[in-house]
Amino acid sequence: MSAYRDPGYAGDSHVGRVRSDNEDAFLLAPPLFAVADGLGGHQAGEVASSLAIDTLLENAPRTGDAKALGRAVRRANAAVIEAAAAGRGKSGMGTTLTAVMVEGTRLSVAHVGDSRAYLLHLGTLQQLTDDHSLVADLVRQGRITPEESRVHPNRSVITRALGSDPDMMADAFEAEAAIGDRLLLATDGLTSMVADDEIEAVLATAPTPDAAVNELIDRALSAGGQDNITVVVADIGTHPRASRGSGSARRWAVRVLWVLTALAVIGGAALAARSYARSQAYVIDEAGYVAVYEGVPGVFAGFTMNERSRVTTVPVSALDPITRARLAQGIQVDGLAEALTLVETYRERAAETSPSAGP
Ligand code: MG
Repeated sequence: MSAYRDPGYAGDSHVGRVRSDNEDAFLLAPPLFAVADGLGGHQAGEVASSLAIDTLLENAPRTGDAKALGRAVRRANAAVIEAAAAGRGKSGMGTTLTAVMVEGTRLSVAHVGDSRAYLLHLGTLQQLTDDHSLVADLVRQGRITPEESRVHPNRSVITRALGSDPDMMADAFEAEAAIGDRLLLATDGLTSMVADDEIEAVLATAPTPDAAVNELIDRALSAGGQDNITVVVADIGTHPRASRGSGSARRWAVRVLWVLTALAVIGGAALAARSYARSQAYVIDEAGYVAVYEGVPGVFAGFTMNERSRVTTVPVSALDPITRARLAQGIQVDGLAEALTLVETYRERAAETSPSAGP
């Protein structure tokens, strides 16, 4: 059952090996995730990054809307400027802010600065955001390579941040992910220390978001940890569609609790609970093939609340490592139709890697 206690997302921040303060901040408020990298030194950078995150959360749209998310980032910019003027933090303080709202497979992104959003999409790492930095401009102009930018002496010079220009604009856009993809948000304490191919390898093999976060921070520390390191990882397809608040795992736990309570208090409720469970479905690795079940996995209070619908011809071995790991535990979805749609996605992916996996 451990897979259902894993909320599908995780985040952490580490001061690193060189700095004495951690000026980064992050937000785990599914479907909204964010990281911020504060600038301005002691009692300034951390004020700016925390204030930006708090203001973002207060002003974020209720549903995925990149333009509205961009407006929330601009509101956070105003808040940082107002705070400095009011004597909170220090004048000249600033922060990056990279925010992503996840609804199903739809991503709404708003971004300023050199923190980054990446997507491990079908096993390949894609950088979603463009850095607002001097070295990124040099890379775009073809004057240095991306590898050189990571070690360039001016790599920390950013060209846009919250906290200085009242008319600052945020990049705001939407992107489509796939179920089983993995979202990464990180400050430059990760991306200046760990190369993209190494980040890709960790995201592709870590069994859970929590494991990915820990491994990425460990690697940044091993590489020198020269800056604060902040990492947020969220698996796509595990978040509720149009509501802020609980992740699907919490929703799941509530359902399980509800089922257990119902069974304990009124025996008759068992039938209702079973009928409720039957409105659910999951897909799971069964002897190497993707199988579809109606109900919920496991046994509650002596009742098995699932029934196999079918074992498909889709071989689990043809899927990417994250999907394989998740299938080993079972992937819960809202109903049989959604499970069958998911299977068709897997069938297409399997066909790309192994032409023999026909219908
Ligand atoms: Mg930094």
